[in-house]
Amino acid sequence: MRYPFSRIALPYDYSDLEPYIDTETMHYHYDKHYKTYVNNLNKALEKYPGLQKFTLEQLLAMPRMDPAILKNGGGAYNHGLYFSGMAPAGRANGPQGQLLYLIERGYGSFEGFKKVFNRVALNVFGSGYAVLAVTAGGRLSIVPLKNQDTLRGRGLTPLVCVDVWEHAYYLKYKNQRAAYLENIWNVIDFPIL
Ligand code: MN
Repeated sequence: MRYPFSRIALPYDYSDLEPYIDTETMHYHYDKHYKTYVNNLNKALEKYPGLQKFTLEQLLAMPRMDPAILKNGGGAYNHGLYFSGMAPAGRANGPQGQLLYLIERGYGSFEGFKKVFNRVALNVFGSGYAVLAVTAGGRLSIVPLKNQDTLRGRGLTPLVCVDVWEHAYYLKYKNQRAAYLENIWNVIDFPIL
């Protein structure tokens, strides 16, 4: 995907993640918050015709990038990961194969992994994300990100990205981020490594 950027298509309907992610939150989150980052990224790129040929990943990996492109590009990228990484409960895949092996080796069990991940996600102070990522050598890492930071320059590939900005859960869960994090595993769709 290149300039002008657009949102990833939702691979499910707004109501399909109920009761874990409510329909109203999905509308605000996908149609307002996510869209605003994508629009502002395109606006920031208007004045850099030379950058318009690059993919979002390439833009985010460049040194000395305009902060407006990093911030809005990060918002566009992180929301793309988040929304594409979920599926309706019952259709969402748990970790399997190589990824399950790495999770069990690194965290003892899937349950143990979720505990560690949720602790990291709960401890993101203010707004941000928690990301499960893998190194080129196959080591898993759970990374807290602030605001719209990304994994740029860290040599990590994101596998699961959970949005812990209040707008991701406040309408349904109010200030209970922990309850949102408990429930979200019902709709996280793990990739196949
Ligand atoms: Mn968000």
